[in-house]
Amino acid sequence: MSAKDDLLSLKGVGAKLLEKLHKMHVFSKQDLLFHLPYKYQDRTRILPMKFLKANMAGVVQGKVTYSQVMFGKKRSLLVRLNDETGSVGLRFYFFTKGQQDQFKEGNIVRCYGEIRPGQSGFEIYHPEYQVLKHLNTPLDNTLTPLYPITDGITQNKVRLLVEQVIESRQTILTELLPALLLEHYKLPTLADALNVIHHPQRQDDIQDLLQGCHPAQKRLAIEELLAHHLSLKKHRAILKQQHSIAFTDTQNLKTQLLSALPFALTNAQTKVVAEIAQDLSVASPMLRLVQGDVGSGKTLVAILSALQVIEHGFQVAMMAPTEILAEQHFNNFTQWLEPLGVKVAWLVGKQTKKQRDEALAMIVSGEAKMVVGTHALFQDSVEFNNLALAIIDEQHRFGVDQRLALKEKGKHGHVHQLTMTATPIPRTLAMSAYADLDCSVIDELPPGRTPIKTTLIAQQRRPQVVERVNVACSEGKQIYWVCTLIDENEEMELEAAQKTFETLTTQLHPHKVGLVHGKMKPKDKASIMSDFKQGLIQVLVATTVIEVGVDVPNASVMIIENPERLGLSQLHQLRGRVGRGSQESFCILMYGETVSQIGRERLQVMRETNDGFAIAQKDLELRGPGEVLGTRQTGAMQFKIADIIRDQALLPQIEQLANSIIRDYPENIEPLIKRWLSDTSRFAQV
Ligand code: ADP
Ligand code: MG
Repeated sequence: MSAKDDLLSLKGVGAKLLEKLHKMHVFSKQDLLFHLPYKYQDRTRILPMKFLKANMAGVVQGKVTYSQVMFGKKRSLLVRLNDETGSVGLRFYFFTKGQQDQFKEGNIVRCYGEIRPGQSGFEIYHPEYQVLKHLNTPLDNTLTPLYPITDGITQNKVRLLVEQVIESRQTILTELLPALLLEHYKLPTLADALNVIHHPQRQDDIQDLLQGCHPAQKRLAIEELLAHHLSLKKHRAILKQQHSIAFTDTQNLKTQLLSALPFALTNAQTKVVAEIAQDLSVASPMLRLVQGDVGSGKTLVAILSALQVIEHGFQVAMMAPTEILAEQHFNNFTQWLEPLGVKVAWLVGKQTKKQRDEALAMIVSGEAKMVVGTHALFQDSVEFNNLALAIIDEQHRFGVDQRLALKEKGKHGHVHQLTMTATPIPRTLAMSAYADLDCSVIDELPPGRTPIKTTLIAQQRRPQVVERVNVACSEGKQIYWVCTLIDENEEMELEAAQKTFETLTTQLHPHKVGLVHGKMKPKDKASIMSDFKQGLIQVLVATTVIEVGVDVPNASVMIIENPERLGLSQLHQLRGRVGRGSQESFCILMYGETVSQIGRERLQVMRETNDGFAIAQKDLELRGPGEVLGTRQTGAMQFKIADIIRDQALLPQIEQLANSIIRDYPENIEPLIKRWLSDTSRFAQV
């Protein structure tokens, strides 16, 4: 039977409804069972009015004590209901005369809705309601599931269809978790779990269901997370079977570079360099992620790793997310590598034709062993002589397609891949989003850094901030002044930066103020950055283009305007631009007038800690995985039922479960992946 016929055999499903179901991605009875409620309404009990709280949803019942049309900003009908414990207002902005009559004083009304703080205390806007003839009209005895639906189909219709499938008791669902594992992890069977989820009985723990932590929901979340995990592991296994060149760690160039450095590696850097060296010395592709807090010295780790490949005569490419950063890497690499006789080339979008042709020639001939660039490196016209290692800096800003493109530039076997995150990723998130990569953590900062002091100041106190900057300039300090994105609008951000630049130039005279932003010509940007680096400019006004990676050790003050517009991890990145030298550094978060109490509390986290991992964890809780991971994997992190934050505690189990399945039940891997990832599997293909 084709999937289509499958649904048509249900009572009440014709061509029209079928089309709507397809729109909801429901193509079979199995899909229908996996079309899960996104929440439940509890209409099984009446909430005493005394215990109502904002945002609560539920049934209230009481006597009408007041009913009046109000003429405020907007005309509305306000009805007051009282029970023995208290009262609540019902507010209607659209109402008929008939409705008005229903709310006669003394009538008993039962209604369902969400409680909100309103003008008359707690109110329910446009509740569903009924006027009761009998006080003891029965309540529902099961929770009401609410399904994601599309136009032209009702909740009730979906409920009835699901019920039909459940009641037909057909075994259309294969249990993919082996009985032994179900028992070991004390999980319900798939059939039982789905039954509860679609049809929660009164005795089921209502609160657990509403919060998504009922064992039935957990069982499905676990299966889904497991499927994602297995898909990443499978992808990894396929890649690991490819052949790559093995590079013995002869350490010639590494030793030369290390002896030329004015400092020693931290223990953490040494450890991570060794982990990478081990990967590179094997004839299967390295798939490694390096995490480290901002300023932990990831660039040096990248260079040392590159040298292991370069000293065997092969090429290394390093991709950076912005031109400023690519250029900075180019300068650093040149300075560190040319004395060792290693030529560096760079490629960015806006080079002149001549510069570009020169770079391309050096890359294809193999003269340049180290190539730095932005996504310009991916273009078809870029041909490498013998690329063997791709390093992706701050990789979460790159889309998966771009990573794939660079990988395909290797001709002598599969390119080794080293990715470095700008933002620390909380462990639980890394476990699920990066299960395909080995992970190294640089968990130590170079010695002698003084922690950055962070303060929160309201925008109104801007004059004081300017004065403080003035004093700092006189003391020979250098300052970043960052203007953040307004409403995702780059033009407006630019305008704000331009204005700030102009006023500061006047206010801080004779100190020199510079401006960099994303729309500038790379040449101009580079010259301003270089002036700042050399101390010719004291205050650098910038848009968020300086967010990642820029390194000017003498800069010790960071002002961020409207920090509330950014994620905490992003703020941490920005703040990490200072505190790189030995002098004490400051960060001032100048928040806007419209920031809520919660917004301010969120910013307090920045004051309390300098630990990127702690901040990332907070960001994850407050803003979700998309924010922490950037573009990377956001597709793959869209779960149907699992919630990476709510289900954090399950993640260690997932890894164990995955290993048991891979070892003992490999035939279940494909069906699991197919069941849960049929829409999103393309994200795991890279
Ligand atoms: P990030 O990890 O944020 O990319 P960078 O690689 O830009 O950090 O390094 C930050 C600064 O620390 C650079 O100026 C770099 O030269 C310096 N640095 C790196 N390793 C050490 C070390 N072991 N000791 C002292 N300074 C170091
Ligand atoms: Mg960096």
